[in-house]
Amino acid sequence: MGWRDVGFFLRGRLSRTIARAVNRKARPPAPVAPLDDVLRGPTTPLALTRLLEGRDNAARQAAVARWLEARGVPFQRHGFRTFEGAGDNFVVDVGRGARALVLIAHHDAVPGSPGANDNAAAVAILLSLLARWASREPPSRVRLLFSACEEIGYLGSRAWVRAHGVADVRGVLSLELPGVGDSLAVWDAVEPTPFLGAVRGALESLGLRADQGHHVVGHIPIFGSDHRAFAAAGVAGAYGFTTVPAAEADALRQFVFHPIRSAVRATVRRPPPFDTYHTARDTGATLDGAALDRMARALEAVVEAA
Ligand SMILES: [Zn+2]
Repeated sequence: MGWRDVGFFLRGRLSRTIARAVNRKARPPAPVAPLDDVLRGPTTPLALTRLLEGRDNAARQAAVARWLEARGVPFQRHGFRTFEGAGDNFVVDVGRGARALVLIAHHDAVPGSPGANDNAAAVAILLSLLARWASREPPSRVRLLFSACEEIGYLGSRAWVRAHGVADVRGVLSLELPGVGDSLAVWDAVEPTPFLGAVRGALESLGLRADQGHHVVGHIPIFGSDHRAFAAAGVAGAYGFTTVPAAEADALRQFVFHPIRSAVRATVRRPPPFDTYHTARDTGATLDGAALDRMARALEAVVEAA
């Protein structure tokens, strides 16, 4: 265990402690969809968000496995247990090729939050892509990683990276908060890489222009996601991938790049999508199906281009 792990761990601990305190006096929980309804239901990202929304972390984890089993999708269950926590990652490889493009969506949520935008919707987007790829494989190898314990300093992804290595990884996108807004953001993109070039090209090909339909943002303090476990292991092209409202771009920059000031100001107004982030208000009712579909289309284009 290195110093970087200690940092990841402490950051995750802090985030969960804050969430638990903030959500203590939460309103009654939003209704949870019966699992069988979701398993038999449509495979749009918005419908599939109900697979995890409102369930506790054990049930969220079990629901991902149930969905994959119900659809006959071969997957690897990677269980891990450390002093920081325990969980199961689920890994699905599709397409051919020696090196994989890794798309990540964590299945856990912070205590007291229904975890719809963070991150049931991201899991749902990857499952919707799997449903599409059932009839037509992607042109190159794609690895879907449904990680556990992201909220404990990316623990699941760190465990996967430690067990599997990163030699066969050619790029990583970790999906976070995909369901609110009209513009896509690639973040933690510090330097140009071939993979970043492919991502930008794919977004442009969909008419999502730079600084309008999509934004490329450098390293963001405090907020992170699973891609950082891969970056820490030496993968150059490892990014977060999020939906944001373009009209909030300036407010969002203020919020994410000045986290201490924002923590104070947060009690006044957090710009979307952070207004529901890690709160009891993170329900499916806040999600925009068009935003989820946009990210799914973008990922398909990235897979075609990368
Ligand atoms: Zn998250």
